[in-house]
Amino acid sequence: MGDKKKKIIKTINIDVNQCNGCRACEVICSCFHAAPKYSSNNPARSRIRVVRDPLRDVYVPVYAGEYAVAECAGRDKYTIDGKEYDECSFCRASCPSRDEFKEPDSGLPLKCDMCEGEEEPLCVKWCLVDALTYKEREEEIEEDDEKEDREELEIGLESLASKYGLEKLMDSVARLSKKD
Ligand code: SF4
Ligand code: SF4
Repeated sequence: MGDKKKKIIKTINIDVNQCNGCRACEVICSCFHAAPKYSSNNPARSRIRVVRDPLRDVYVPVYAGEYAVAECAGRDKYTIDGKEYDECSFCRASCPSRDEFKEPDSGLPLKCDMCEGEEEPLCVKWCLVDALTYKEREEEIEEDDEKEDREELEIGLESLASKYGLEKLMDSVARLSKKD
């Protein structure tokens, strides 16, 4: 068995009953991640998006999770206030079967980075009705798990490079790293 290590797990809890669909979270997320930082506001680049159905008062914020190499088999339906939603509507993955959580120009996947460098995620800070709450918890992990995470990241990068081309991937990384 490997040695134990502490790891901070960061999550955002979502209270859909509080969300009023204002989209401030999308605005600040896209501004923070613009290159240079705060130079533009384009919610299409946001790593959080609000599934909105204003006539029925349905607003569901979803923040971007892992990149999925292939689309999944799950196609459950959700019913909210009598309206059916596809399972995909609320999925956090950037996946080949839909356009959500992809950079509009390059098509590269977007993932929430919890606003790296900030004390608190900015979408949480800007949500004035507390629909979003930031939570941190400490978990003990095996060092082997950390190695697996790294391996998964490498596999993820490899599949991104083969799907989008290494040059496009490198361009995008270079552009994002210039954001400060
Ligand atoms: S900022 Fe809060 S209330 Fe506004 S859309 Fe986002 S989660 Fe909903
Ligand atoms: S935590 Fe930051 S990166 Fe993640 S969705 Fe919120 S604003 Fe965007």
